[in-house]
Amino acid sequence: MRYEELYRRSIEQPEAFWAEQAKAIDWHVPPQRILDDSNPPFRRWFAGGETNLCHNAIDRHLAERGDQLALVAVSTETDVTREITYRELHREVNVFAAVLASLGVGRGDRVVVYMPNVAEAAFAMLACARIGAIHSVVFGGFAPHNLALRIDDAQPKLLVCADAGMRGGKVIPYKPLVDAACAEATTPPPKVLVVSRGLDPDAVRVPGRDVDYAELRARHEGADVPVEWLESNEPSYLLYTSGTTGKPKGVQRDVGGYAVAMALSMWAIYDVRAGQTMFTTSDVGWAVGHSYNVYGPLIAGATVLLYEGLPTNPDAGIWWRLCEKYRVRTMFSSPTAIRVLKKQDAAWLRRYDLSALKWLFLAGEPLDEPTAHWISEGIGKTVIDNYWQTETGWPVLTLMPGVELKPVRLGSPGLPSPGYRLRVIDEVTGRDAAPNEKGVLVIVPPLPPGCMTTVWRDDARFRSSYFSHFKELLYSSLDWAVRDEDGYTFILGRTDDVINVAGHRLGTREIEESVSTHAGVAEAAVVGVQDEIKGQVPVVFATLKASGVDEPARREAAAEMQQRVVDQLGGVARPARVYIVNALPKTRSGKLLRRSLQALAERRDPGDLSTLDDPNALEECRRALERGSDF
Ligand code: ATP
Ligand code: MG
Repeated sequence: MRYEELYRRSIEQPEAFWAEQAKAIDWHVPPQRILDDSNPPFRRWFAGGETNLCHNAIDRHLAERGDQLALVAVSTETDVTREITYRELHREVNVFAAVLASLGVGRGDRVVVYMPNVAEAAFAMLACARIGAIHSVVFGGFAPHNLALRIDDAQPKLLVCADAGMRGGKVIPYKPLVDAACAEATTPPPKVLVVSRGLDPDAVRVPGRDVDYAELRARHEGADVPVEWLESNEPSYLLYTSGTTGKPKGVQRDVGGYAVAMALSMWAIYDVRAGQTMFTTSDVGWAVGHSYNVYGPLIAGATVLLYEGLPTNPDAGIWWRLCEKYRVRTMFSSPTAIRVLKKQDAAWLRRYDLSALKWLFLAGEPLDEPTAHWISEGIGKTVIDNYWQTETGWPVLTLMPGVELKPVRLGSPGLPSPGYRLRVIDEVTGRDAAPNEKGVLVIVPPLPPGCMTTVWRDDARFRSSYFSHFKELLYSSLDWAVRDEDGYTFILGRTDDVINVAGHRLGTREIEESVSTHAGVAEAAVVGVQDEIKGQVPVVFATLKASGVDEPARREAAAEMQQRVVDQLGGVARPARVYIVNALPKTRSGKLLRRSLQALAERRDPGDLSTLDDPNALEECRRALERGSDF
């Protein structure tokens, strides 16, 4: 089938299309209605159908692939590799489910999971799914305050954590963070289940609250826990957005729609089928980790690699070595990770047998052309930019090599996924933007299966955050985009990242792209800073590939960057100032925290820094601002 045909059918005959896709998963009770759209912007896919994510991810594969690897959990931090077959996964998840039940967790109860990328994180998620509990995985790198906020929002009956994580060889005890979060929270969980990795011997310490997983596991060895059949629209999990632009939103996902979207995306987009291997380098705490470290590949009957560690440890060849060893077909990572590798010797990219590898997908933030070039040439594979959001749970824009590989257009994540009716809207007139004209990317409801169903316990916020931006009822992505004549869509940045320079509206992304074409630049962040005359002016913060560059060289590079922007985008986009720094402030998910940079540059309070990865990076930018511009 051709891409156009598949896509057109999904838009013109959505019910027939999705009824067809729904056959890819097991239903205990088949859907009574494919789409109940009677209460927009809410919609119910596969209404009346009953199914279960854990059953679809594990049980249904046992007969045919019990001895096939389901999950390979590699930690280069603890130097442990665990190869887990579907049968073993079934056993582990049943035991975990029995442990959850023994702690009073049942259907509809929330379970907060605060774990590093270890197999038990996946066991915990799947065990929740098995018994109909709602998991809320919180990225293990978040500080107690972030965790406390999410605990209070989800009001969990149980929190599952590891004793510790590790980063770059350093043990990071999780339990003190959990204890601090529980102390701060208004509704702390009555029980905390500690999965010990032997990194913190005193992790189980609050009597009556803390329980040791190993102890309970031994007690429930061999348990068989029946699957809880859920109505398709019951919540499966909660997941908070990254908080790049403000207070994170508790994205609620359903069961049936999500399972069907996962099944479709695995073959059509990622080109991975049962028995093949996918390597997703994300953390289980992010949307990509949920969909493509756990549910997607397992629902497809594939093998998935879960990785704990840095991409450069023990050396920059580790990921490619794993691709060789496990004959990885599709790899899924992020531009941030590739930029880390880019600082290493490119020879690492050619040292291993990558003959099984077909595609590298990258998602989460803009993929700049130099990075895309560097990696696709380095490994000699097609690199596919993927645009999506925590809210959508799977790609909105992508190419679909499992259906038909359309040509890659650098800088564009490609074409709409099935079921996504996209428009680019002029935010002032509310009319459709012409080809190559900038507007806001919106999804025409109903949102396809797999997307969020609401904000947890806050339907009003679901409406106001996403559906209140235009006269028509449209889901706003809050991202700027342009679409070319062929439908390729380019993302220009977030709607709150637009600068208004003397009446001209400029996307910071365009200026960043332009600065990044300078061969010496590793990464750039552009923010709009208040200016008495022009309203706002673009200000650049950039890191260089080379380290220890002296002042004259810095000045020269800065001047060249400025000139590039003028040449490529015109004088109106000319950066007023360029600051060269050693690191840029990012969220824990690797996204540039422009709002804080902007605040600093305007001498305001940088705001909520709880999602910030490395406080030093922001400090350094502050010092650079004090030192004065490099141009
Ligand atoms: P919050 O919504 O809380 O501010 P966030 O938007 O960073 O946080 P995510 O859902 O993790 O949370 O990120 C989705 C956003 O990431 C998209 O809306 C877009 O701005 C950006 N993004 C993701 N993939 C791409 C891509 N391929 N190209 C450009 N931007 C991307
Ligand atoms: Mg967002």
